[in-house]
Amino acid sequence: MHLRKILMAWSLFAVVKIISGAEVVRPLLVEIRHAPEALIAADGVKAGSGRFSFDSYDRERVLSVVAGNVLTLASREELALMKQDGLEVVVVMESEDKLTLIKRALYGEKLQLDPIYHRYDQIVRRADELAKAYPELITRLQIGETTQFHQPIYAFRLSNNVTRLQERPAVLFDGCHHSDEVMGAEIVVALMEKLVAGYGHDHEVTGWMNSLEIYLVPVVNVDGHNVVTSGHDPRWRKNLRDVNSDGVTGIYPEGVDVNRGYDFNWAMGGTDDPLKANYRGAHPFSESENCAMRHLADARQFLLSVSYHSQGEVIYYPWSWNGLPAPDDAVIKSIATDVAARIRTMSGSGTYAIAPGGPSSQSYPWFYGRRGDFDFIIETGKGSHLFPPAEVPGIIAANLEGVRALLAHAAGPGLAVQVTDANSGQPLVAEVWLPAIENEMVDRRHSDARFGRLWRLLKPGKHQVIVSCPGYRTVVVRDCLVGGNSWTPLKVELIRAATTP
Ligand SMILES: [Zn+2]
Repeated sequence: MHLRKILMAWSLFAVVKIISGAEVVRPLLVEIRHAPEALIAADGVKAGSGRFSFDSYDRERVLSVVAGNVLTLASREELALMKQDGLEVVVVMESEDKLTLIKRALYGEKLQLDPIYHRYDQIVRRADELAKAYPELITRLQIGETTQFHQPIYAFRLSNNVTRLQERPAVLFDGCHHSDEVMGAEIVVALMEKLVAGYGHDHEVTGWMNSLEIYLVPVVNVDGHNVVTSGHDPRWRKNLRDVNSDGVTGIYPEGVDVNRGYDFNWAMGGTDDPLKANYRGAHPFSESENCAMRHLADARQFLLSVSYHSQGEVIYYPWSWNGLPAPDDAVIKSIATDVAARIRTMSGSGTYAIAPGGPSSQSYPWFYGRRGDFDFIIETGKGSHLFPPAEVPGIIAANLEGVRALLAHAAGPGLAVQVTDANSGQPLVAEVWLPAIENEMVDRRHSDARFGRLWRLLKPGKHQVIVSCPGYRTVVVRDCLVGGNSWTPLKVELIRAATTP
């Protein structure tokens, strides 16, 4: 949007607020203990005091609903209605300053984030300590810098020999596209610790490190994460871009939604309204945080990846697009099903759900549609974006079980394609197309420049593969038989096409 339009939008917003004057003033932070299920459920019975379901986008009233306890902002009238309804209510805090009430609700009594959560400088320092102690297992890569404050955004590569790029499938785990969803960073950091500590001791971890390259980006939205972890504002979700160019940042709700900035159906996702939580920015890849992720994906092709978010205890996979499933739906859905079945919910009574997400602007349609990587969003925890400290270890442990299920799929079945020049034996970047599966919804996939490799997860059985590269004769493999439980090698040597005079 043009800058003048943005300024108009901001001032219009202010005028509307003044004219309407109808904004409910809620000076109370109220805790409803043991709230009845019917009042919490989204489709629950509406009592006089209203429903208390958690809405990820709304910070005007219900702030968290964890383990049956509701923390909500309330007016005196609303408090009276709650009491009339017979709810067990306690006034936790009274203040004219809404941000203070929100801090009290989400940070707790000290109005500061509990130290069980990590600040970004702590995460980087810890990773650096590990890299110093185990230089063969973990190394740091800068993939970009933040939009507003130009802070470095780091990825960490882990394998049994990180000093050399390995000819293996690569997987990626990232956290905090949305900076208020801090569990993502915590899960990725816990995975980092597990991989380093477990190598050589834990049979499963050792197997992953010996057969994969694992990339971790604990925090994508580093500027936003600093706002939340420094105690400035626990609601901060977007990056810190100074959208209205007034020289002031960190005034809620400014910024750009970093998870609406990718260029796969960009215009279909989020909104062009800068005041909204899902503002997609001025153009695709307008934000450096997205460019950093693209830079990483340019440097390394990923087989599988996960973006951790909160909340909902659900895994979103690509995709449902006008009612049509993704071309690889059969494989993608079975992976999502396996992973979800291994992650226990906070209540302990069940496991995560799965659902196809939309095809637009977020990380998973981009990684899948543009790069052929099966990418999932895992919405960790339920009822809040920031969880009480007591809940954190359980959510992490449950999600590390999900990692185990995901990484089991990195062993196939599928095709381990390798394309080389028949004459020189050099690796080739070639298009590897499975026409019976890949329609025009997705970009064509290619073997990589370094090794001429493409790892392609498939259902066992016969597949048709067409391998083509400019300047070479196209090869069609009609009945390529993919075996049941591991990678099936497919070596393709391309012969130069005769040049016409
Ligand atoms: Zn999110």
